[in-house]
Amino acid sequence: MDDLVATPDIAGALAWARERVGVMEARILLRHVLQCPPARLVAHPEERLTDEDWAAYRALVERRGAGEPVAYLVGEREFFGRSFLVSPAVLIPRPETELIIELALAHFGNRPRPRVLDLGTGSGAIAVTLARELDAADVTAVDASREALWVAMANAARLGASVSFVQGSWFDALDGERFQLIVSNPPYVAAGDPHLGEGDLRFEPHSALAAGADGLDDLKTIIAEAPRHLDDDGWLMLEHGYDQAAAVRSLLTDAGFTAITSWADLAGIERVTGGRWSGRH
Ligand code: GLN
Repeated sequence: MDDLVATPDIAGALAWARERVGVMEARILLRHVLQCPPARLVAHPEERLTDEDWAAYRALVERRGAGEPVAYLVGEREFFGRSFLVSPAVLIPRPETELIIELALAHFGNRPRPRVLDLGTGSGAIAVTLARELDAADVTAVDASREALWVAMANAARLGASVSFVQGSWFDALDGERFQLIVSNPPYVAAGDPHLGEGDLRFEPHSALAAGADGLDDLKTIIAEAPRHLDDDGWLMLEHGYDQAAAVRSLLTDAGFTAITSWADLAGIERVTGGRWSGRH
């Protein structure tokens, strides 16, 4: 039937997609196919889609209907006001992760040339944003995944950020290097958490999400090794799960950090915990 019937116009295509993925996503996906600003969908509802665009649109709507994340389908997601390329090799940047940016800016915004490390950079959202927002920051970003680093490097290039990228597991490739600020949004979901089988998480890299039976494996590794890579009075700031703040505070206490604090995200959930390393322990 498709061969005989003319392609729909914009209004018709949106009406078809709305049934399957809702109004918002129907629009986002059509804008992606047509590569157009939002106004065109409203201003020209009678504009007919080409066969090619209609086929591409139907395919995207069907993939979305089957659960694939919108960000992977359109290849980008906004974070801290900038658009980041994403692929299934990286976690999709989350709004709650903007908290770690705000904290870093509050603590380091007026230091000259801060040396910053982002562990498990994924799309590079944190590293690239800090490189752009902190004045003359010297930012290093690490990831174990080569595929993730390609995405992060593309984002740094696209967004004009100067970041040094290093492939390795946590601190493994950083022997002898020290920083004033270490940040990370590591995997922290408990391996048996049912959320891993729901929504976008089903399509995201397991290695970027899950971290052992209680989700603390990677947070523990980072906290244990961070002191050897922090300058005196340097800070470690870690994103963690909604129920992990107390555990992360006590890990930081045991490791000898001071000024240990947890900060809540916009949903009121303690989401980032940090501490200062005073050296001489
Ligand atoms: N906040 C993410 C989620 O639960 C998990 C991200 C992470 O493990 N770092 O969707």
